[in-house]
Amino acid sequence: MKFQLPKGTFDILPYAPEEPWQLTALWHKLESIIAETAREYGYAEIRTPIYERTELFDRGVGETTDIVSKEMFTFEDKGGRSLSLRPEGTASVIRSFIEHSLSQARSSHKFYYIGPMFRYERPQSGRYRQFHQLGIEAIGASDPAQDAEVIDMLYQIYARLGLKRLRVQLNTVGDLESRAMYKAALVDYFRPHLDELSAESKIRLEKNPLRILDSKDPKDIELVRNAPSILTHLSPSAQTHFQEVCRLLDSIQIPYEINDKIVRGLDYYTKTVFEITTEDLGAQNTIGGGGRYDGLLSSLGGPDLPGVGYATGLERILQVMIAQGIEPLKEQGPLVYFIPLGEEAKTKCFTLASLCRRSHLSADVELCAKKVQTGLQNATKLSAVYCAIIGSDELNANKITLKHLETRQTTDLSLDRLISYLQGIQP
Ligand code: ATP
Ligand code: MG
Repeated sequence: MKFQLPKGTFDILPYAPEEPWQLTALWHKLESIIAETAREYGYAEIRTPIYERTELFDRGVGETTDIVSKEMFTFEDKGGRSLSLRPEGTASVIRSFIEHSLSQARSSHKFYYIGPMFRYERPQSGRYRQFHQLGIEAIGASDPAQDAEVIDMLYQIYARLGLKRLRVQLNTVGDLESRAMYKAALVDYFRPHLDELSAESKIRLEKNPLRILDSKDPKDIELVRNAPSILTHLSPSAQTHFQEVCRLLDSIQIPYEINDKIVRGLDYYTKTVFEITTEDLGAQNTIGGGGRYDGLLSSLGGPDLPGVGYATGLERILQVMIAQGIEPLKEQGPLVYFIPLGEEAKTKCFTLASLCRRSHLSADVELCAKKVQTGLQNATKLSAVYCAIIGSDELNANKITLKHLETRQTTDLSLDRLISYLQGIQP
């Protein structure tokens, strides 16, 4: 029997990947740029389990969201508890923050995480059932500068990865006061069009009219076009907050567009919401989104602290990088590739390779090829810098000939000088 990947999942391979973005080296590059940028902005890594009590997501993400109502991988453990694979990271980070009383350790908290998320969605291009997100969460500061910093950091990460044609779409969903005014205005607007709304949006009108703005139904989209704007329903403090975020983004030359139709899919957002899009992804053109969530901590039983966060799909980032023709990474091969001729030489190569590695020099030994020619081809395939064929001549004379595979130049050395020679030419 031949096994296959479960639907909606993929493997990340060190070579010969199915899709170019499924190459381990690209993931390493992405992860290291993220870690470095996060450090410079003062964000520390947090790791939480990949599953949590289902209730955490019901409350922390919102029961009326698509994520919770349709997309969760939920199962019961042997003790009859309902658990779910995490569909996103914010709820888990907040749970952890509250559980470990981190609020007592300092007054502002800046986290990032990278890891798999799980959503039971219809697999299609750019949409998987196990995918990866970079998430950042800044807890404690209600200042608009915190919102702007989060946007700036993400923009930096994308820019350092070489992404082009990015657009920051910015909006506010106001504070509680603005939201109440705006919801009433939306209900007034949609009520006379009730028959034209999709079945789902009819329910949304009762439960959470803002969510209609997020609808992907063509009829809803048509109606949404003329719907009242949140921007004319803001309380003075929500208005000031939004203007300040815009002013700060201007001050660091981050290009953005105000898009009053962005509400984001999650229930917990307040004030600033934003998405970053690119033109090179076809249908799935959003690479990430986030916003401020000032009431979330207290609603999950924690201290009444404000927060702002963002999540971005790593698959989508890599797909854009590939679509925009970012230079393929050159594979780093071993510095030296030993090819033994015979059993005695094999032992010698084995010990030499071990010696190299103990001196932090990458090395490999040919163990499979029956012919020298195949060994040389393997060295080239691996992008080795040097190869060295070891046979009885070399063993008897205690010497080695290093051949540079690209320039074809050869260097004769006595074996005891090998390590110091290689150390000298290490880049
Ligand atoms: P969409 O409207 O595309 O379904 P979403 O609102 O569900 O997006 P978020 O929950 O905000 O997305 O997740 C943030 C980011 O995570 C998305 O912009 C995307 O890059 C990535 N993402 C979300 N779901 C998936 C998925 N099923 N497969 C791959 N990436 C995903
Ligand atoms: Mg979704």
